[in-house]
Formats: sequence, structure tokens, C-alpha cells
Amino acid sequence: MLGNNELILGIDLGGTSLSYRLEAPEKLLASGSMATSDNFFKQLANIYESLVREFGLINAVSLGVPGPVKDNVMGPSFPLGTEEECTFDRCFKGASHLIVKNDLFMALTAEMTEGHGVVYKNLVLVSISTGIGTAVAVDRKPLDIRGEMGHQRIGVIDTEVAKCINHSNCWASMCSGKAISKKEGSLDFDLIKSANLRLL
Ligand SMILES: [Zn+2]
Repeated sequence: MLGNNELILGIDLGGTSLSYRLEAPEKLLASGSMATSDNFFKQLANIYESLVREFGLINAVSLGVPGPVKDNVMGPSFPLGTEEECTFDRCFKGASHLIVKNDLFMALTAEMTEGHGVVYKNLVLVSISTGIGTAVAVDRKPLDIRGEMGHQRIGVIDTEVAKCINHSNCWASMCSGKAISKKEGSLDFDLIKSANLRLL
């Protein structure tokens, strides 16, 4: 639990863009949004350091990332193009708390508190963006698991292998923003529709 004057920095690190908000209790101090840089570690450190210079000690950093997370360690991320496990501690030196979670898990947690979760107790949240993310809540509780339904393999395309990071022909490798931009139009709309219908 944060004290009265403590600052929390929330960051959404996406494959395409990065957004942040720095808040004191009940007060927004700073916010911004920009394209995600290839060196996103340095970009995160630069944002954090410049906010610390302007506003002082930041007590907690909450970072949502587009990949599977366990114990603050992010696994391979298709949207970020990383194949190795990543930690983020070096980006936020001096922060007392660093919380790294899958971005959809964080979104679903918010949804269960203030959105559709107020009405429904079991739901699946799907985000079709740079990658494809999913998160599941059962009995109002978001499951903190490596769901990765976006990487479910589907047998829709048999003419061409659609590559992902560590496998092929998964949903994200065919229908995510990143996959479609890579394909340069060779993947037609009917195939995308049939792949989406297969899973949704
Ligand atoms: Zn995949």
C-alpha cells in the first residue's frame, strides 16, 4: 500500500507504442505516449530518470508488457521481437517496487474492477493489436497464468507457413497487426476472417 505522498508510475509497453502516467494519490502529475524504440530498455530508463529529476522519488513502477510474465521476468515477446527472457530492474533504479505483468492481465484486472467484470464474473479479454493477447477471468478472478491463446496453432492456412517467434501457423502469426504488415497483402481478408472465426 502506498503512503500519502508516494508516486506511482504506470507504463504500458507495447510493440508499437509506449504510454505512461505518473500519479500521486488522486493526482495526475505527468503522462505521455510515443513510438516504442528498438532499444526499449534505454527508452524506459530515460523516461523514468527524467520523471525522477522533475518530480523526485518514484516509489512504485507498474509495467505492462506484451508477453508472458512470471516473477517479473518477461518471456519471448512477439510484438517486441525478443526471443530471450527479459528483466526490467535496471531501467528503474531506486524504485522501491517494480511490478511487471502481462499487459492483458493488467487490462483484465482493471476490467474486473471497473468495467465489464462488474456485470460478468467469467470472461475472456482479447486484444488484436501488434500481437494478439488474451486474458481469462474465472469467478471474477483474473488468472495469472501463461495463457497465450494468441499463439494457439490453427490449421487455416496450408499454402504458406506463417512464422511467429518460436513456431508457425499460430493465430498471432496470421492475424496480428505485425503479421499482416509483414505479409504485405499476400494474406487475404477471407483468410483472416476465417482464422478469427475459428477462435472467436
Ligand atoms: Zn505464435
